[in-house]
Amino acid sequence: MNNHHPPLTRRTLLTGLTATVIAYNTTTRTWATTNTPTTGRLSPVPTLDGTLTTNPATTATHAHDFGRLTTNTPHAVLNPGSTQDIVKIINYARRNGLKVAMNGQAGTGNDLESHSNYGQAGAAGGISINARALNKIHTITPTTATVDAGTTWAELTEATLTHGLTPPCLTDYLHLTIGGTLSIGGIGNTVQKYGLQTDTVESLDIITGTGHHLTATPTHNTRLFHAALGGAGQAGLITRATLKLIPAPQRALVFTLHYTDLTTYMKDQETILNDGRFHTQVGEIHPQPPGTPTTYTIETATYYNTTPPNPTPLLQGLTPQQTTTTDTTYREYTFRANTFADNLKNLGYWNQPKPWLSLLLPATTTHQFIQETLTTLTPDDIGQGLLLFYPFHTNKITHPLTITPNEPTAYLFDLLTFPHPGTNPQPALTRNRNLYNRATQLGAKRYLVGAIPHMTTTDWQHHYGPQWTTLTTNKKTYDPTHTLTPGQNIFQ
Ligand SMILES: Cc1cc2nc3c(=O)[nH]c(=O)nc-3n(C[C@H](O)[C@H](O)[C@H](O)COP(=O)(O)OP(=O)(O)OC[C@H]3O[C@@H](n4cnc5c(N)ncnc54)[C@H](O)[C@@H]3O)c2cc1C
Repeated sequence: MNNHHPPLTRRTLLTGLTATVIAYNTTTRTWATTNTPTTGRLSPVPTLDGTLTTNPATTATHAHDFGRLTTNTPHAVLNPGSTQDIVKIINYARRNGLKVAMNGQAGTGNDLESHSNYGQAGAAGGISINARALNKIHTITPTTATVDAGTTWAELTEATLTHGLTPPCLTDYLHLTIGGTLSIGGIGNTVQKYGLQTDTVESLDIITGTGHHLTATPTHNTRLFHAALGGAGQAGLITRATLKLIPAPQRALVFTLHYTDLTTYMKDQETILNDGRFHTQVGEIHPQPPGTPTTYTIETATYYNTTPPNPTPLLQGLTPQQTTTTDTTYREYTFRANTFADNLKNLGYWNQPKPWLSLLLPATTTHQFIQETLTTLTPDDIGQGLLLFYPFHTNKITHPLTITPNEPTAYLFDLLTFPHPGTNPQPALTRNRNLYNRATQLGAKRYLVGAIPHMTTTDWQHHYGPQWTTLTTNKKTYDPTHTLTPGQNIFQ
């Protein structure tokens, strides 16, 4: 601590709109600038390779996330110039009782905000770190890629495809940061074969809440490795990851199977899951207006290089009402959500409030939950969005904090609503809470994405079950001052 402004000749570290910000005033709990009278105790900002700014135009871009349901304006935004900047800022925040969160500002244009849904990346009154400032792809070998955590899956995939390689697990939408999805799980159409993105990590560089910069692997700093993967940013901030790569196929033969009967649909979904006949599987439920039966689809793909596979054995034993087939390149297939996103942006839906709900349902109660839910869910609830629904084996998901239902098979229920512009999101938030309550009665868990209001400590204890002790012990070890990632709202 220091009661004087540092000499004005020092490097400009913190840039405000009208004056250079040089310190945090721990008495008034405001930032001190070169124009601020020196009253109270000042804690000077450390020398940084990047910049820390309190410019309202910048802090405003970190106040909201993709969900557009919350406002958590940070005091300052760090654009790190190095990982050492993150170490310094975490230590600085710890000393001054400030909160810090990484914000995966993936994307460009309309995509200038964290892809969280309900303030999970928020750092209200604290320091938000722009993850995208560190986005270098360091190495690509035949089996691994080492990347900065602010790299997006789109950037990594573009780069690996030029080597004939691909990450085995990709989210449907690729413009998400690697650090962001590794902090929550990262689910996509190959979960049935490879688990979550967290299950494909070989090594992480992490800066803990105590300001230590450590490398963690399955055999070195093992506890921290598991604390970070799916760890909701509670133990440390991931700065670098080494991820598995596999050979990329050239093409994808994609089958869309259509159903109107839930039981038949789920039976075919589980047949495909259990015999592993396709490389990928996702599914969608399409609620209809009252009086019209709900429709369901399975989308599966078989990858190949030169000769398309014979569809007959692939479809044997399945009983859809209709099947459509598309043949496309692997690249087009992996980037397929770009077109969906562009349409929503053009139609004015992208920046509206989007109260998403992501649940993992145990297979034995899934049918009941879906039947009950479909009695109330209308096409307007979905708007221009979708309801993803597909099964996976829970034993593919290996890290203790990526919580799944306690059954061998679970279903992703992902209500990705894009309500019509002008829709009041409050009723949908109440719906989410009610559906969460009912789903948990039936043994479900939430996926850390989505908007579920009023999560209490009891809810979180119930969510984590036996892993609650792991989570709280990790917090005590790696972030005892509760500096990191307050927006997850787990430690209240
Ligand atoms: C259009 C769209 C499509 C999506 N599709 C999928 C999908 O197919 N599958 C899927 O699993 N998810 C999907 N998501 C959800 C997505 O995984 C989450 O939004 C996730 O939060 C990643 O977004 P982000 O990179 O912006 O990270 P953020 O939302 O900024 O971060 C997520 C959380 O992790 C913390 N965090 C971020 N980076 C780090 C880091 N390096 N170290 C420690 N903590 C960190 C943040 O503070 C926050 O708490 C989708 C989201 C959108 C908007």
